[in-house]
Amino acid sequence: MVYILFGPPGSGKGTQAKTLQEELKIPQLSTGDMLREAIEAGTELGMKAKGFMGAGDLVPNKVMVGLIEERLKESDCANGCLLDGFPRTVPQAEALETMLAVADKPISKVVSFQVDEEELVSRLSGRMVCASCGASFHEQTRQPREAGKCDYCGSSNLKKREDDKPEVVQNRLQTFAKETTQVEEFYRGKGLLAQINAMGEFNEVYSRLRGAMRQ
Ligand SMILES: [Zn+2]
Repeated sequence: MVYILFGPPGSGKGTQAKTLQEELKIPQLSTGDMLREAIEAGTELGMKAKGFMGAGDLVPNKVMVGLIEERLKESDCANGCLLDGFPRTVPQAEALETMLAVADKPISKVVSFQVDEEELVSRLSGRMVCASCGASFHEQTRQPREAGKCDYCGSSNLKKREDDKPEVVQNRLQTFAKETTQVEEFYRGKGLLAQINAMGEFNEVYSRLRGAMRQ
């Protein structure tokens, strides 16, 4: 079983995928996390990606496809995976189709997370991430218990991500919107697309997600 969670940055699909991977016992492949790890580690691919991400632009297809192709070969993906943040473009979707056909792993469902743009900008531009353990906080909606300090590991290194700055956020959302319709149409044409309302409480969204996956 391969599920694709599709939605703009800030739509909450990454957090939903974390719960889903526990329930389904298949790994979440987040291209965003994979890229950030490559950048931290200073790999060649990471350095290439860094320039694009800092400007809010999409990382080129070849880089993303290579990253996913390698990851799908690992043994924890034997029963499938949850793709979070990939594919973002039609050429990526086509490349994925070829990869999955070779591996004999059909896509079960593509779930598209729908959130208002105004809500997305507010969610993203207030986000702070712990540089030590990766936990997420938010200036308005999810403040740490002690100002500037991580609830989980106690680190005082809470940072805004470069690509969460308001001007970069606008650019990220526009970039996403340009590509998004085409990818949705691609999967709608194959009868695989389900759209869910991703506004509201975590549990509400989670049950809509589970419902859409069973369709
Ligand atoms: Zn932390």
